[in-house]
Amino acid sequence: MGRKAEGRVGFIGLGTMGREMARNLIEAGCIVRAYDVRREAIDELTALGAEAASSPADAARDADIAITMLPDTPQVEEVVYGAGGPKSGLLTNPPRGRLIADMSTISPVAVRRMAADLKAAGIDMVDAPVSGGPIGAKNATLSIMAGGETDAFARAKPFFEAMGTTINHVGAPGAGQAVKLCNQLICGINIQAICEAIALGRACGVDLRQLREVLLGGSAASWMLDKLGPSMIEGETGAGFRIDLMLKDLRLVQEQALSLAVPLPGTALVTSQYLEARAHGEGAHGNQALFRVYDRMTNQSAQPTG
Ligand code: NAD
Repeated sequence: MGRKAEGRVGFIGLGTMGREMARNLIEAGCIVRAYDVRREAIDELTALGAEAASSPADAARDADIAITMLPDTPQVEEVVYGAGGPKSGLLTNPPRGRLIADMSTISPVAVRRMAADLKAAGIDMVDAPVSGGPIGAKNATLSIMAGGETDAFARAKPFFEAMGTTINHVGAPGAGQAVKLCNQLICGINIQAICEAIALGRACGVDLRQLREVLLGGSAASWMLDKLGPSMIEGETGAGFRIDLMLKDLRLVQEQALSLAVPLPGTALVTSQYLEARAHGEGAHGNQALFRVYDRMTNQSAQPTG
């Protein structure tokens, strides 16, 4: 569990990550009013002590802060600007505390536009994407990288501390997303590197479980090798962080890089492999399923050793 916190939170988006983050806010001492387009997701949260909301505006109304944890840019824009017409979004129905923290991974350009529109209406927006995956969300050990005005970040921080342990203010609105895109680029290329090492180790007849343990003790160690290595080796495809969500992030990385004329050849290569995985119907699988691309390239299937 994270640090103790108090206050009212409107939480919008109760999926793999949002469900656990909202639960940690409740356990920390906050009153959480929760909304998702899926009724069953709201029911799950009310069973944990949340109040049920009938819309994003209803979730936010009495809150000190509204937090969104949604798949992509269009969903966050829908919640801010309103899907049921301009009067239904948070822009015209802000939380009482006039503070919104979007913790999804979305376009930094869209964040800057929304933050400016909200600011013109006297509402502060902090972009605060996270790293640490479903395990970090569950254990309240997320790394949270926030962009926004200093005062807005200070007001949001106690809520972030209930969900994470590494919390940094990295600049103006959009800066949190820029740092997150750098994070995702490293994650994608790192997963690819692990796939290549396991493909080579398998071809050499090495015990793959031992290979992973040995690598974890040296300079090739990484979070991805530690957390995703076992399911890669066993051919287990269950989703924590889905292939299609990583593809969304790699698209955001490339859009940003292209607009600034920054060549990212490594990112371009791994993006092609993610596209190949999705073309094989694996978009809903976890990121470790990128190894299936290497199965196909080597005409092999997962072979647990030992
Ligand atoms: P998810 O798809 O599991 O959850 C998203 C939730 O939003 C779903 O419950 C969905 O029903 C709900 N939703 C969609 N549109 C909505 C709308 N208009 N209004 C209200 N609710 C709506 O996704 P997730 O894995 O929880 O990821 C959420 C965000 O966090 C994404 O941007 C993702 O890239 C990022 N992220 C995910 C992970 C991970 O490991 N899963 C890690 C770090 C960051």
